[in-house]
Amino acid sequence: MLVLRKASKSTASHLVRHTPASQVGRWQRSTRGLATPSGGPYDAVVIGGGPGGYVAAIKAAQLGLKTACIEKRGTLGGTCLNVGCIPSKAMLNNSHIYHQTLHDIKKRGIDVEGVKLNLPQMLKAKDDSVQGLTKGIELLFKQNKVDYIKGTASFVSPNTISVALNEGGESTVEAKNIIIATGSEVTPFPGGAIEIDEEQIVSSTGALSLQSVPGKMVVIGGGIIGLEMGSVWSRLGSEVTVVEFLNSIGGVGIDEEISKQFQKSLTKQGLKFKLSTKVLFAEKKDGKVVVTTEAAKDGKQDTLEADVVLVAVGRRPYIKGLNLENVGIEVDSRGRIVIDDQFNTSVPNIKCIGDVTFGPMLAHKAEEEGIAAAEYIHAGHGHVNYETIPSVVYTHPEVAWVGKTEQDLKKDGVRYKVGRFPFLANSRAKTNMDTEGQVKFLVEEETDRILGVHIMGPNAGEMIAEGVLALEYGASSEDIARTTHAHPTLSEAFREAALQTSAGNAIHF
Ligand SMILES: Cc1cc2nc3c(=O)[nH]c(=O)nc-3n(C[C@H](O)[C@H](O)[C@H](O)COP(=O)(O)OP(=O)(O)OC[C@H]3O[C@@H](n4cnc5c(N)ncnc54)[C@H](O)[C@@H]3O)c2cc1C
Repeated sequence: MLVLRKASKSTASHLVRHTPASQVGRWQRSTRGLATPSGGPYDAVVIGGGPGGYVAAIKAAQLGLKTACIEKRGTLGGTCLNVGCIPSKAMLNNSHIYHQTLHDIKKRGIDVEGVKLNLPQMLKAKDDSVQGLTKGIELLFKQNKVDYIKGTASFVSPNTISVALNEGGESTVEAKNIIIATGSEVTPFPGGAIEIDEEQIVSSTGALSLQSVPGKMVVIGGGIIGLEMGSVWSRLGSEVTVVEFLNSIGGVGIDEEISKQFQKSLTKQGLKFKLSTKVLFAEKKDGKVVVTTEAAKDGKQDTLEADVVLVAVGRRPYIKGLNLENVGIEVDSRGRIVIDDQFNTSVPNIKCIGDVTFGPMLAHKAEEEGIAAAEYIHAGHGHVNYETIPSVVYTHPEVAWVGKTEQDLKKDGVRYKVGRFPFLANSRAKTNMDTEGQVKFLVEEETDRILGVHIMGPNAGEMIAEGVLALEYGASSEDIARTTHAHPTLSEAFREAALQTSAGNAIHF
């Protein structure tokens, strides 16, 4: 039986259909009718072309493994490039420029008249960035000789994957090693009490493509995605209220002191917060959405009316259609594929990385795991340091952190010192008229070893890289304090905070 019934043009169909068997290179029909590279099965097949999967595929190919990546979306880059990191940052950047032009640049000596929002163009600019970057990955696949198979993968056996091709038909792929990198999807509102229609009641995906600025927006969830998307629409003119079940914003891992400062800053910008408040349900009424809430303290119910509601209560692992039961891959109670510390699932030749397994749902975490998983397949060892994975909220000011928070250290009973430096005292921040926030170091009292770095301020997301390096190399705050930083730069605030931590005094504050 011929298993490869109809191959897509965009996969390797041209090789299968039009090329003589002697010239097919990496793809051909094997004598058993399987779509495999010439010379037997693939060394590695990656399911999912997000930041975890596409990076794993490129790395595997660079290490000399015959590699294919199966992606069903029709474009590469996964959640991150298509409906996540990249489009949200495009909207954040451009909405910030719009907001600055309206409210900030006059004091800089720039008079602009008739500033108007052109939302269709802003959305197009976002779409263009996404398209450019997703196409770029296709190019990288070609350069690195990764076979890109467009379709939905499901397991037939530990070495065989069936692919329902996007353009119709089915193919079967054989592989010695498989990496699952199928990512995550939006978590629906618990109990089905709010149904997402992606128009009036939206997930982050719908919030990236609203066709007009809502008069009022309610954001359910004060985590990173809720705050970023809330900021975008607030800057564009929406009256935004964020409802959060916890009594703080910023999600898991943010330092409590920074979270409070951050909330103040966003409040000054016009966002409203209802903390310690649970959303019960939402109903559409006369063209609006009415959200019913309940206060954690006294159970008092209240309603909020909105033109658009954003449900941003988290993401969950995506394993639909993989047929994991066919191969006996273990999944935990939260739907995450269970792996060991070398990314092995319960089936020896199948690894798993990224959002679909344990750990923070972040693109750079997935990428690191992709590289390490490929290295494990190639050489039997790889490396991801989970203690040094940074988090960034790309609002303005940005908030970024790596390592431990004060609340972590208190809980663990670690004796620590705190050092700080405010951007208000940094010459570049003052020159740029952008002085909100601080750099905060947490170090072990006895050894001065840096345990955590927390930054709220301009370009915090770039500056945190220095904190990540410091933690990676086990630096002390004195190491940083004795390292020259160019003047005038925002990064001098980083050094001054280290100086304040190690020597007890900063120079400029
Ligand atoms: C609005 C938003 C903003 C974000 N911003 C950031 C940010 O600024 N920084 C950051 O680090 N992270 C951010 N994230 C998180 C980031 O997008 C994810 O952590 C990251 O994409 C996870 O990568 P992944 O490769 O594990 O999975 P994904 O990116 O989800 O990719 C998985 C891919 O697998 C494909 N797939 C699934 N099942 C199959 C199958 N059976 N066959 C074939 N293909 C399949 C899917 O179509 C998908 O393309 C954001 C997320 C959202 C929603």
